Amino acid sequence: MAYSFEIGPIRPPNESNSLLLRFTRNCPWNKCKFCNSYKGKAFELRSLAEIKRDILVARAMREKILEITLKAGSAGGMQKVVSMVLKDPPNESFRNVALWLLGGGENVFLQDANSLIMKTEELGEAIVFLKNALPGIKRITSYARSQTAVKKKPAELFHLRDAGLSRLHLGLESGYEPILEFMNKGETAADHIKGGRKIVEAGISLSEYVILGLGGKALSYLHAMSTAKVLNEIDPEFIRLRTLIVNRSVPLSEEITAGRFIRAADDDIIREERTFLENLKVNSHYMSDHISNLLPELEGKLPQDKEKLLAILDNFEALPLAEKINFMIGRRVGLYKNLQDLDDAQRHELVEQIKFKLDQGKKRFDPQIIFKLMEDFI
Ligand code: SF4
Repeated sequence: MAYSFEIGPIRPPNESNSLLLRFTRNCPWNKCKFCNSYKGKAFELRSLAEIKRDILVARAMREKILEITLKAGSAGGMQKVVSMVLKDPPNESFRNVALWLLGGGENVFLQDANSLIMKTEELGEAIVFLKNALPGIKRITSYARSQTAVKKKPAELFHLRDAGLSRLHLGLESGYEPILEFMNKGETAADHIKGGRKIVEAGISLSEYVILGLGGKALSYLHAMSTAKVLNEIDPEFIRLRTLIVNRSVPLSEEITAGRFIRAADDDIIREERTFLENLKVNSHYMSDHISNLLPELEGKLPQDKEKLLAILDNFEALPLAEKINFMIGRRVGLYKNLQDLDDAQRHELVEQIKFKLDQGKKRFDPQIIFKLMEDFI
């Protein structure tokens, strides 16, 4: 198939099997110091005609895969056909459709950074067109900014929910005003609360992202306390944790070089997460679904799982220092998935060898080693 549709650069990890449809290009704000996702790229609205064309191309690709499956008869099956397509897809969008079908063909993620900025009528029309063109879709989600939600009238958000918008993913990042200002987030804690509440009250599922370490060493405690306070007011369905990663392409690296931002190390972040968790009074799913997080097993439903989650932090903090360091490295080189993996003697030894290569057996462990390992995650 010679034709294709546009796909943007990022999507949330839990949308890995979703159909990705680009309703806008890049980020209309694009100034956050910790973000490099759309750096150097101008924001553009796409016309309804362009969006509808992409949806129809996705539908044609879906039909093509279903047609090959039917022809293959009982010897084939969708899974076999899709696996075949995935080995040598004609282009990225065809690969996305194949992956989407493999994942059940039910979820769609609308790219890029803030689809809510579209005119409500147009966004609603595009969503309805999408549902009609691809029946069987159960979930339609997108990224958005709180400030954009603040500007929408409640009736507009109800309209989008009725059209079929199931969930919005918002970058809260921090609830502490000085951090939001320093990071050039362009949104206040009050915007986050107002925008978040409007989304929740419209019956749209809300997923709020928090960046551990965003206050650096100096503001770690205030970051944890204020972020918990803001989330308590919003009470979103999901709270998703990420840990700050900085490489040279991220503007924040200049602040680090100039000494204006001192990064929080893993042990600071564990303390920060404890304060954050202890102070959360929400009815949310707490998710650590990102490779940047030290302890991905910190997942559960609040409030009922709070003690279980705090016990995981206790387990890490009770480890001898050498074991903590072994785990931090093992996790960041991809050898460990959770704390239990420390019991695997073979992997443990391999991590010790890696550690020796990295720090040449120095007595004092340098957190820069971890920061450097994490740079590859973005
Ligand atoms: S609003 Fe989101 S996508 Fe845009 S610059 Fe900030 S973090 Fe990045």
